[in-house]
Amino acid sequence: MSQQAAEWQRQGLKIALVPTMGCLHAGHLSLMHKAVALADRIIVSIFVNPMQFGPNEDFGSYPRQLEMDCRLAEKEGVHAVFCPDAQDMYGPSFQTKVSVANLSQGMCGADRPGHFDGVATVVLKLFHLTRPDVAVFGQKDFQQLAIIRRMTADLNLNIEIVGCPIVRDPDGLAMSSRNKYLQGESRNQALCLSKAILAARRLVAESQTEISADTVISQTRELIAQAGAKLEYAVVINKDSLQNESVITEKSVLAIAAKIGGKVRLIDNARLFLERV
Ligand code: AMP
Repeated sequence: MSQQAAEWQRQGLKIALVPTMGCLHAGHLSLMHKAVALADRIIVSIFVNPMQFGPNEDFGSYPRQLEMDCRLAEKEGVHAVFCPDAQDMYGPSFQTKVSVANLSQGMCGADRPGHFDGVATVVLKLFHLTRPDVAVFGQKDFQQLAIIRRMTADLNLNIEIVGCPIVRDPDGLAMSSRNKYLQGESRNQALCLSKAILAARRLVAESQTEISADTVISQTRELIAQAGAKLEYAVVINKDSLQNESVITEKSVLAIAAKIGGKVRLIDNARLFLERV
């Protein structure tokens, strides 16, 4: 991969990287579509990264479908699918960790200790291996995108980081490889995340006066509980700093994580001002 990327670089071709864990869906394909518009050579990495999974998480059962993924990527105009082995990425003496300290603390970082160190470390390795000029990520993983932007700036990586909007199923559910785990009633219950976000946006749009984050969060908690899901967090944060906000501003994002059917952890988020989304 390295040699191919270096060759493309020598030829003066612009390289885009789309990092994924595979089991590609329309959300991933939208990132590839964006990458095709931005660069001459598109690399998609498919790597279920053991370093970003906790001991009781779904690393072993995470859906994998490499052949199908390669076909989908090829159709989007991708030039290379990079799917390294875990042993190649992390040799027996591996011991380095990249940590974007503050941004990794709350939200998913609080629920999944060490997760974002795993993400930052593997993304930096992928950047070195694929030498991209631009890398494309989804806003679905809002905290991850902020962390990658921070790491890229802090380490002077000279890579443009592009964020793309969340792609949803027609009924509103944010697409995710983990939606494969949802069967029957769980698929229905999973809609509580996007419904709670819609309701929050409506609340903000219809309010004549300043509205507090607590009001939005209480309504969100209620809707998630009514659906029978287990809320892991609901926060109103500033889109740039990820700091909690006490009143809703134009920069406010509502971010939610909830467990569906007792075991499938899903996340979703959106800006709260309708006209700005
Ligand atoms: P994953 O394979 O889940 O690690 O995701 C790989 C990339 O795809 C990340 O940048 C995600 O934010 C992005 N992504 C995942 N789901 C969606 C979606 N529904 N819409 C847009 N981007 C997404």
